[in-house]
Amino acid sequence: MAFSVGVDLGGTKIAGALVDEDLNLLAFRKIPVDPERKIEKVLGDIAELSQGLLDEGKALGECAGVGLAIPGILDLKKGMLIFSENLNWRNVPIISLLKEELPVPLFMEHDVRSGTLAEVFFGQGRSLQDFIYISVGTGIAGSLVWQRQVIRGAHGTSAEVGHIIVAPGGPLCRCGNAGCLEALASGVAIERDAFHLTGKPVKGEVVFENARAGVSPYLEIVHRAAHFLGLGLFNLTQIFDPEAILIGGGIAETGNWWLEIIKENYQKHLLDSQAIPEVILGRFRSKASVMGAAAIPFLKKEGYL
Ligand SMILES: [Zn+2]
Repeated sequence: MAFSVGVDLGGTKIAGALVDEDLNLLAFRKIPVDPERKIEKVLGDIAELSQGLLDEGKALGECAGVGLAIPGILDLKKGMLIFSENLNWRNVPIISLLKEELPVPLFMEHDVRSGTLAEVFFGQGRSLQDFIYISVGTGIAGSLVWQRQVIRGAHGTSAEVGHIIVAPGGPLCRCGNAGCLEALASGVAIERDAFHLTGKPVKGEVVFENARAGVSPYLEIVHRAAHFLGLGLFNLTQIFDPEAILIGGGIAETGNWWLEIIKENYQKHLLDSQAIPEVILGRFRSKASVMGAAAIPFLKKEGYL
């Protein structure tokens, strides 16, 4: 049996996964990102985390490699990160820097596309041809899958669904525009609304727990976010007519309760004559990017990528 390791580099955490070739999760680790985000320190931590998981996998058989899920604009051919807002890094030759410490095949992919690949080949997307994948967590991002291919766009920035504008003049987004989907329906937006309405910092998990118990103003906050997410999904459906919409990311861990509210808010906009795409939770939820990263060495080997 072959094994691989996936690493998901986030803004605050680095997740690592050891998987077998059927993408069964065999070991999972999470470490904090160096608060100063020093490149050598973060890459050193990635190498150490990966090596630990590779050592654990040794007994399983052949190592297919290590896949990295990286946030930001990437040059995949050069193994280079061009720019990452989350990390505040520019022009970092990630693959060549890591190669010195990790002598195995190394691959990288944009973090949300990585999550999408996990769903296309090993998750809810296996039986689908055309779908939208949307990851709702601290931020909102997505991918379009057309004829089982992840669409990258002419400049590699296709499906920046977090930055479609759903409320002109709405709250300021970190991208500089106002009223983006991310500024209204992400984890950060939900925590911001909770702070404004309660006067104290409230974690997203606590907002959802209270909303589920019907407590005000948390229930209203979640419904407001769901209203905008529904609107965003409706707009995307009008453009792409997908078979389904898959939802992943940290908030997807909230499960079916939240999904039902999203569906209600999405479907109310659809036209009577329109086929209704299924809205479902992805298989990998908050672990989609790290699992997709782990899948990449196998997908490369099999010639799918
Ligand atoms: Zn934006």
